[in-house]
Amino acid sequence: MDTKTILEMIDEKKDLLLEISHQIWAFAELSLKEVKSTALYKEKLKEAGFSLQEGYAGIDTAFSGSFSSGSGKPVIGILGEFDALSGLSQKAASTVKEELVKNGSGHGCGHNMLGAASFGAALVVKKYLEGTGADGTVIFFGCPGEEGGAGKAFMAREGAWRTLDAAITWHPDYVNCSVTGSCLSCIQKEYRFSGVAAHAAGDPDKGRSALDAVELMNIGVQYLREHMPATARVHYAITDGGGVSPNVVQPTASVLYMVRSRDVPDTLALQERVDRIAEGAALMTDTRFERVFVDGTADTLPNPPLEACLYANMQALPLPEYSPAEWDFAAALRKTYESEGLPGLGAKHDPAIAEKVRAMSENGTKALNDFLLPYYSGEDFSPGSTDVGDVSWLTPTAQFTALCFPAGAPGHSWQNVSCGGSSIGDKGMLWAARVLCGAAADLFSDPALLDAAGAAFSRRTADRGYVCPIPPDAVPYVIE
Ligand SMILES: [Zn+2]
Ligand SMILES: [Zn+2]
Repeated sequence: MDTKTILEMIDEKKDLLLEISHQIWAFAELSLKEVKSTALYKEKLKEAGFSLQEGYAGIDTAFSGSFSSGSGKPVIGILGEFDALSGLSQKAASTVKEELVKNGSGHGCGHNMLGAASFGAALVVKKYLEGTGADGTVIFFGCPGEEGGAGKAFMAREGAWRTLDAAITWHPDYVNCSVTGSCLSCIQKEYRFSGVAAHAAGDPDKGRSALDAVELMNIGVQYLREHMPATARVHYAITDGGGVSPNVVQPTASVLYMVRSRDVPDTLALQERVDRIAEGAALMTDTRFERVFVDGTADTLPNPPLEACLYANMQALPLPEYSPAEWDFAAALRKTYESEGLPGLGAKHDPAIAEKVRAMSENGTKALNDFLLPYYSGEDFSPGSTDVGDVSWLTPTAQFTALCFPAGAPGHSWQNVSCGGSSIGDKGMLWAARVLCGAAADLFSDPALLDAAGAAFSRRTADRGYVCPIPPDAVPYVIE
């Protein structure tokens, strides 16, 4: 599809995409509770003539809409997300922190835009297949629970991505950049200790403190940290402190652990060491505990041919331009947080790229990184985690980022909620829709590209296949 056609076709859908992005921004529904957001997408997919699959892996808010033409091959998936974050309610397009809904949620990761752009691309690709009569299937995947719940990993356990020839997606960010390298696999489990309540002064000998067990477990894990791989990470939160009275021996206490390592087998091995520390803490305190699986994700496998395809479309499609008011707004937001350094992974690892980025970003001082970062493809890892990783182990997958936030804005922040609900977010979302659309059209029209992506995927998975971090008996964990 040529650039002019993509621009025209996304432009035709512009009002609809903005309406969806704004509505989902306002719904701001939490992971695995995205009922209204899901209903909106399903309604729009039905209206557009997609076949719906409702529910995956016992998750009601997971769905897909597909359209096939001719032989139905190849099959290209476009991934969308739509969950928000708790405690981040924030007025749109505001330069000060002000809650919109008391104790409400907000789209601090920009998933309102993520889903809308992916949906828009699927709509236009359907029209492209209809118009050209090309063979193929396009599937928009509604992936719930990215922030918590690992929706895509549960869908992966059901084999959702195995039938695809490739999957593409994007993420809102403060740079226009290809995404490369890998990230960490992650498993979350809650350890729920139970002991015996007693009067802390009168009958201390009768009590068995679950809170002591949690504290000893945390100390044990502190010592573990010295003896684990440098790239691994272990984080925790005490989810039940056992009550507010020091004069009662705490009969219950829980701690949620997040264990991250390079890949799923490494993470499972590290997780087992944390399990043994929990056993030790229970032994020391004469308490019991149960483990509740929360979620898990795989590391991401990069796919250079797909990354290059996305980047070629990023280069071909003109970047948004910003009005003086938008520059002023971004500059005012930027004053509300500290940011330093040059944007993008390439600038960190390649001195020549760093030099170019320094010039383009005016030494990192611009309020909006209104340029395309130089292409960079590498093996470097970022210490975060995403359930896109689980997709990438089952089909060639690539993603990119588009500017929706002011330069250097912290992730999961009120600044992102504010900007993601502003015209800057709108422009980033529409540009991302165009890039996805162009890349999908390339995948349908260029068999050599799909072959190269498939070959890269086969090389990366030659040693071993996908290990799903979700145990067979685990059920989606919804935080109440
Ligand atoms: Zn996020
Ligand atoms: Zn996100």
